[in-house]
Amino acid sequence: MPTETKNIYVFGAARTDGDAKMKNLLGGKGANLAEMCRLGIAVPSGFTICTEVCTVYTEKGQDAVVKLIEAEMLKGVAFVEQEMGKKFGDASDPLLLSVRSGSRASMPGMMDTILNLGLNDDAVAGLARKAGNERFAWDSYRRFVQMYGDVVMGLKPVSKEDHDPFEVVIDAVKEKKGVQLDTELDTNDLKELVQRFKGLIRARVGREFPTDPWEQLWGAVMAVFQSWNNDRAKVYRELNDIPESWGTAVNVQAMVFGNLGDHSGTGVAFTRDAGTGEDLFNGEFLINAQGEDVVAGIRTPQQVTLEGSRRWAKLAQVSEDERRTKFPSLEELMPDIYQQLVAAEKKLEKHYSDMQDIEFTIQEGRLWMLQTRNGKRTGSAMVRIAMEMLRQGIIDEKEALRRVSPERLNELLHPVFDPAAIKSAKSIAHGLPASPGAASGQIVFFADEAEEWVRKGKAVILVRQETSPEDLRGMSVAQGILTARGGMTSHAAVVARGMGKCCISGAGSVHVDYHARSMAVGGKTYKEGDWISLDGSTGDVYEGRVTTKEAELTGDFGALMDLADSFKKLGVRANADTPEDAKVARAFGAKGIGLCRTEHMFFQGDRIRAVREMILAEDEAGRRKALAKLLPMQRSDFEGIFREMNGLPVTIRLLDPPLHEFVPHDEANQKIMAHEMNVPLGVIKMRVDDLHEFNPMMGHRGCRLGITYPEITEMQARAILEAGLNMKAQGIDVKAEIMIPLVGTVREFNAQAKVIRQTAADVFAQRGEQLDYLLGTMIETPRAALIADSIGGQAQFFSFGTNDLTQMTMGFSRDDSGKFLPSYLKDGMYERDPFQSIDQKGVGLLVQMAVEKGRKARPDIKLGVCGEHGGDPLSIDFFHRTKLNYVSCSPFRVPIARLAAAQAAIDNEA
Ligand code: PEP
Ligand code: MG
Repeated sequence: MPTETKNIYVFGAARTDGDAKMKNLLGGKGANLAEMCRLGIAVPSGFTICTEVCTVYTEKGQDAVVKLIEAEMLKGVAFVEQEMGKKFGDASDPLLLSVRSGSRASMPGMMDTILNLGLNDDAVAGLARKAGNERFAWDSYRRFVQMYGDVVMGLKPVSKEDHDPFEVVIDAVKEKKGVQLDTELDTNDLKELVQRFKGLIRARVGREFPTDPWEQLWGAVMAVFQSWNNDRAKVYRELNDIPESWGTAVNVQAMVFGNLGDHSGTGVAFTRDAGTGEDLFNGEFLINAQGEDVVAGIRTPQQVTLEGSRRWAKLAQVSEDERRTKFPSLEELMPDIYQQLVAAEKKLEKHYSDMQDIEFTIQEGRLWMLQTRNGKRTGSAMVRIAMEMLRQGIIDEKEALRRVSPERLNELLHPVFDPAAIKSAKSIAHGLPASPGAASGQIVFFADEAEEWVRKGKAVILVRQETSPEDLRGMSVAQGILTARGGMTSHAAVVARGMGKCCISGAGSVHVDYHARSMAVGGKTYKEGDWISLDGSTGDVYEGRVTTKEAELTGDFGALMDLADSFKKLGVRANADTPEDAKVARAFGAKGIGLCRTEHMFFQGDRIRAVREMILAEDEAGRRKALAKLLPMQRSDFEGIFREMNGLPVTIRLLDPPLHEFVPHDEANQKIMAHEMNVPLGVIKMRVDDLHEFNPMMGHRGCRLGITYPEITEMQARAILEAGLNMKAQGIDVKAEIMIPLVGTVREFNAQAKVIRQTAADVFAQRGEQLDYLLGTMIETPRAALIADSIGGQAQFFSFGTNDLTQMTMGFSRDDSGKFLPSYLKDGMYERDPFQSIDQKGVGLLVQMAVEKGRKARPDIKLGVCGEHGGDPLSIDFFHRTKLNYVSCSPFRVPIARLAAAQAAIDNEA
C-alpha cells in the first residue's frame, strides 16, 4: 500500500509529530514549538503545515493545496479542539487560532501573521461571556477584522502617501468621540469599528468579510503562502541568500490572551544577558497586554527578575519604593508563574545548549510559551557566553570557537557608540565601513590643520576627497577619517585599519569643497568645525556628537584566543610600520610582522625633507648625500621594531610607492619646499611635473625604483642589517626578512638581491659580525605568480600582495573601482568586493598555482599573504585550504584572523 506523504504535523500535550531537527520541513518556529511540547513545556496546541505545501501553492495554486491537505486540516483542527476543550466556530466558547508563517531561516517581520481567527458576530458574544469581558472580546474582533482585511483580503493603502485605511477609520471614530488613545474607546466604539471595517471591505474589495471560520482559516493559510513571494520577503531572501525553493511553513495555533485582565500578561526573556553575556536570566513583561505592546514601547515594561528590576530602577533613577509599588518584577508579582518560567528557561537553554530568546504569555494565571530560538547577541556577549558555556560543560571547545563570528570581535577592540545615543542620532551619509570603531569630532579638511587643532586639544574628523601618504600624521591624530572617494583598500582604508582608527571611505554623496572648507551632503552644508560622528563598523555618518563608550576586553576574550591558537594551522602576523604598531600587534597575539611598509616612516618628523632632497637630486652623488641623512633614522625605526618583536620574524619591504607621492602638489607647499631646500620654485615644479605618471600604480614603483636607483635599496638594506646587529648586541633575538616588492621577472629579483647581499657583506665585514636574514619577494604581479617556480628558485619566501595582485588580475584600479564596484555588487556581477574577500576562482587560482610552484622549487619556502585579505575570514579559510604558512593583517584584525584560522581548521577537518 502506498504511504501517503504527511503534510501536517500536530503539537500538543497528547501528541507531537515533529521535533527541532525538522527545521527544513517545519520551519524554525514550528520545529521549536514541537520540541518544546516534547520537553513537556506548556505550549498552546496547534499544527504546522509543512514547507513543501508552500511549493505546491507556488507551483499549482490554491485548489491543489486544498485537495492535498483538506483531510489533514480537519484532523488538525479537531486535535486542537480536543486539546483546548473548545470548538472552532462555536458560538458559546469558540476556539480562536493564530496563523503565522515560519521558514527555515528566521525572516523577522517579512511575512504575515493573523491573530484571533475564528471570530464572527456570534462567536464574539460567546467570547465576551466566557471571558466575562465584553470590551476585550470586541477589541479582539476588531483587531482580527483589521488584520484579516489587510493581509488576506488585500485592503491596503493605495499608494505610499496613503494612510492605512483601517487607521483612517479608527482616527475618525476617535475624533468623533474626542479621544486620543485606542484604550479610550469603549465597547460600543469597538462595535462601531467592526461594522465600519466590514463596510469598508465590502466597498473597496467588493466581497463580504467571511463569517465562516473555515473560510477564514483557508484564506489565512493561503495568504501566508502567498506572502512567501511578497516583495519584502523576496528582497530579504536575496540579501540573505535564502533560496525561494525553501518555502514557508504555516503554524496554526490556539490563541492565548495576555490581555484578559490583571492576572494576564505577556513578555520576552533571554536566558542570558544578550548585551553583556552575563549568565543571568532577564526579560521584560507587561500586565494585561498583548505581545506587540511590549515591543511597541507604549507602556514602560517591568522586569522579569527582582535582580533585573533593581538594576533597572537604579539606571532609571526610580526609588525602591516606587519600583516595588509601580513596577514590581514578575518574581514579586506572580512568584508561582515566575518559578515555572525559570524552570522552562533552564530546561530550554540546557536542551539547546545555547542562549535562548523566549516569548511567553500568561493567561489568567497560567503560563504559556509561544516561541524559543537562539538569541541574537553583541560581540562581547558572544565571547562570554561561548567561554562560559564551555566552562560549564555545556559545549565543547570546537563548538565554543564556532559560536563566535570573527567579525564580531571588532566590537571588543574599538570604542563603540552608545546604542541609546545612536537611536536619536541623524544619519546624513553612508560609505564603506572601512575601519571599525566609533568617532566624533569637528570637521577639518587638511591633515596639517588636523594636527594643529588636536594640539589645541580638539577632537577632529579628517574629511578628505581621498587621502595620500602626506596626510598620514593628520590621520593619526584624528578621531576618525571620512573620504568621499576610494574603496576598501584605498589609502585611507588601509592606513586607518592599520592604526585601528575609525574610517569611512567612498561616501559618494559627500561633496568636499576644499576652497570653501565645507562639505555638502543631502542638501545641507557642513563647515569646518562642525561636529560629525562616524560609525566605522556600519559606514554611517551622523550629524553632531554621538556619545561613545570604551571597548571592554574581558578575560574570556583572551581565553578564546588561546583556544583558537590551539586549533589553528595558519600563523597570524601583523602588518605594522612602527614600533608602536608592533607593540599593539604583539599584544593582540601576532606571531611576527608580515609586512612593514618602510615608506610610511618617510613621512615622520623632518624625514620628508631628506626624502625630497633625494628625489630632487640631479645625480647619484646627490641622492647618496640625502640617503645618508635618512640612514640613521631608518636604522632607529628598525631597531625599535626588532626590539618589540624580540624572537619573532619581521618582514621589511623595501620602498614601494611612486616617488611623486612624496612631493607637494600645491603651489603653497611647493614654495615652502623651495624655500627649505634653497632652490627656485621653478625647479621644484619641473621635478614634480617630471614625476607625473598617468597610472602611477603601474608606473615607476616597487622594485623598479630600487633597480633604477640601487642606492635606495643599499641604504635600506644597510639600515635593516645594522639595526639588526645593534639589537643582537643587546641580546635581542632578531629575525629579519628583507622583501623585494612588485617583482615580475627573476632578473629583477636577482638584481635587487645582489645589491642586498653585497651590502650585507660590507656591513658584516665592517662590523666583524654576521646576522642571519632571509631574502624574499612579494608575489603581487600576475607574472610573478605564473613564474613562481623560477622565482622560488631564488627567493627564500613569498608574501602574496593580494591587493596589487587583485588590481592587476582583475584590471580594477584599487583607487577608482569605487565608481562601479558598488553597482557591480548590487547587480551580482561579483558576489563580493574582490578587494575585501579574495576572488577565489580567479586571483585565488594564481595564489594556488604560485604556492605549488614555489614549494616545488624550494620545499621549505615560507609562504604568507600580506594583502588586506589576510584579515578577512572567508579569505582566511581559502588560505588555510591553500596551505599557506601564515596570514598577515593589520594589528586590530589579528584576533579576528586567529579565530577565523581556528574555524577554518575545524571546518575543513577531514
Ligand atoms: C599588496 O599589494 O597586497 C600589498 C600588501 O602591498 P601594498 O598594499 O602596499 O601595495
Ligand atoms: Mg602591493
